[in-house]
Amino acid sequence: MFFNALQLEFKPRYEWAFGEKIAHPETTARAESILTAVAEAHEDFELREPSKIPAGALRGLHSLQLLNLYATAEQIPEDTDFYPTVFPKLKRGEGDPNNIRQAGAFCFDSGTPLNAKTLSAATWSAACARSAATSLRKGAKLAYALSRPPGHHAQRDLFGGYCYFNNSGVAAKVLRRAGRVVVLDIDFHHGNGTQSLFLRDDKVLTISLHGDPREYFPFFCGFASEVGEAKGRGYNMNLVLESKIDGAHYIKALEAHAVPAIEAFEPDYLVLAAGLDAYERDPIGDFKLSTEDFFRVGERIGSLGIPVAAIQEGGYFTEHLGRNAVALLRGLRAGLGLAD
Ligand SMILES: [Zn+2]
Repeated sequence: MFFNALQLEFKPRYEWAFGEKIAHPETTARAESILTAVAEAHEDFELREPSKIPAGALRGLHSLQLLNLYATAEQIPEDTDFYPTVFPKLKRGEGDPNNIRQAGAFCFDSGTPLNAKTLSAATWSAACARSAATSLRKGAKLAYALSRPPGHHAQRDLFGGYCYFNNSGVAAKVLRRAGRVVVLDIDFHHGNGTQSLFLRDDKVLTISLHGDPREYFPFFCGFASEVGEAKGRGYNMNLVLESKIDGAHYIKALEAHAVPAIEAFEPDYLVLAAGLDAYERDPIGDFKLSTEDFFRVGERIGSLGIPVAAIQEGGYFTEHLGRNAVALLRGLRAGLGLAD
């Protein structure tokens, strides 16, 4: 498991949601909950520092302007956050990344703040994902990145959905150099950023299981009709699941649609975008998975026999987030035949 303490220095405090100022769900307590649970399960998991991520690894996935904007945000006074509120309909590449007031040109929602610590935390979060992928390339069967802030909503030149760098995309890109990659996104929300990064790629199959985008973030995409473009056509799958789905039906959907697609693709590596907001008590999700269900989901995915880089995405019922992460990881270990 990979984590760096600097990821805890970024502290979003509030969010504008449907006209109201609410406590921000993406807190440092999320990572702390996972760290505590993993420490208690130390016989199964080892905590490691990620290697520093080279700038080139981020530039391969994100625009220079987005990186420049995060550098501009480092000048924001301490304990101050900037929330974009104006989102101009510009052409790609327009907007001044050196002017924080134009951050809306590089962002798609109002709930994802920038401050002086954003770049450092997001960079280490991406570094965790890269290190997890690198350990798979060195022969590990399972690696976990405690990536926080999360990443699967971040696009090449846009941040949003609490995401700045696309951590699952970083892992997929590292693994793609060594073989075929499937990115399986089990976060409650559609992985729109990851989809957009690999939409035209036939070496990376992206599959996302999520709540209906007509009702839930990110609202504008995540529909079954989005199947990839150009040579990537047929290599993107969106499984829109019904509201309040329980674990048994969730696994049935996984079995019926995702598993055959993965097996037909014959991937060398699996990147699991491991959001845990499908949990029954999650404040912003609407599925009914229990802690035991996360074990079963992990076990089924592990039993595919493909090396897994699990990258932490969402999950906002902080009190149980750690135990849900451990359940998923123990399921993966069991499925991969790594458990004693
Ligand atoms: Zn989510």
